[in-house]
Amino acid sequence: MPFSNDELDFTYPLPAYFKDQPSCYIYIYNGKVVTDPVNVPDSPTILHDGIKDVETKGIVQYIGALGEKLCYAIGLESHNEIPEEMQLVFLRDLIGQIDERMLALAGRAIQLIEFELTSKFCGRCGTLNETLEDRGKKCPKCDLLIYPRISPAIIVLVMKGDEVLLARSSHFRSDMYSIIAGFVEPGETLEHAVKREVMEEVGLKIKNIRYFASQPWPFPNSLMIGFIADYEEGEICVDGNEIIDAEWFRREELPNFPGKTSISGHLIDWFVKMADKK
Ligand SMILES: [Zn+2]
Repeated sequence: MPFSNDELDFTYPLPAYFKDQPSCYIYIYNGKVVTDPVNVPDSPTILHDGIKDVETKGIVQYIGALGEKLCYAIGLESHNEIPEEMQLVFLRDLIGQIDERMLALAGRAIQLIEFELTSKFCGRCGTLNETLEDRGKKCPKCDLLIYPRISPAIIVLVMKGDEVLLARSSHFRSDMYSIIAGFVEPGETLEHAVKREVMEEVGLKIKNIRYFASQPWPFPNSLMIGFIADYEEGEICVDGNEIIDAEWFRREELPNFPGKTSISGHLIDWFVKMADKK
């Protein structure tokens, strides 16, 4: 699944026996990735090695080990610090340009640097935070404790016999349909969020909710948790604002839907393959 760092060793803090391993660095500036289009023009390089005086180059965060290589993110503090001949690229623009391990690493790097930049001071009393060993930040005055923010969101493929429910969001380009998704509320279970979002967006009751897979979605910090569910009762009713159309589609008449960069594309692909097997 794109943006999943499944091959990355997250062990943190870094074990002592690890510390002599070779290191490599991803530069991040202003939420974007610094790539090297000059040395390898066909495929942007985001991991750089042989960097000297790393500790003088802004915010440095260990992001994990990829094989024998220790990967660090360097959050640059000004545009002038971007190494000559390199360029700034949006993470979205690297999709399909670099391999999925690198894409996932860049997504994690951006989020860890963003957390450093936005957690320097306590959000409750403004005191300078202390950094804990487990990536947490703690206020020495009021004890407020925070961690890198992750926003869980559910996404669900709803089926009725051999049809699938697809909806068109007002944010999509005109011919694009996808499945239902939404953020989980405080105090809510994932299953409740799945039922609530389907009811809110299309007015349907669903049943048999089962887990499919999850995907980190670093725009800016979501974790998508994917489910499959069956229609129970109700007629499709959209609000006309957020969702402008929703319909049941058979496999052979599917409209345009998202590609396999996102878990929605994987879920719809699963539906197509399952229908193939029948
Ligand atoms: Zn405080």
